[in-house]
Amino acid sequence: MDVRNCKECKRLFNYIGGVQLCDACKDKLEDKFQEVKNYLWDNPKATVKEISEANDVSTNQLRQWIREERLELADDSPIAITCENCGKKIITGRYCQDCKNKMARGLTKEFGLEKKAPEPEPPKKKESDKMRFLQK
Ligand SMILES: [Zn+2]
Ligand SMILES: [Zn+2]
Repeated sequence: MDVRNCKECKRLFNYIGGVQLCDACKDKLEDKFQEVKNYLWDNPKATVKEISEANDVSTNQLRQWIREERLELADDSPIAITCENCGKKIITGRYCQDCKNKMARGLTKEFGLEKKAPEPEPPKKKESDKMRFLQK
């Protein structure tokens, strides 16, 4: 059995994976989510900061909900969420519709290549980066 402290209230609870929250806090978070959803419905142009302050929820939590596609932003929302693959502005999730379509069509290999392309660095450069860091 995996017993952990709840991230929110610090009480011990049986951890079954996923978020590190006890059942009570999970319920509270779910209520909060509904609150935020209603708030966004009434205030489609609210910024992350405004939503966070009005609903007493962290901006990290808000962004997580958006990335999980639980919250959907209005088209003219000032909150900038961008596709993790091409950088286009999106309203929910991690990728734009185009990229999602490409992935669905089984072009995921292409993604792998695109992601790797800018990365290959000679190991020497990494070493000097580290040294610069240490000298600070
Ligand atoms: Zn708790
Ligand atoms: Zn995209």
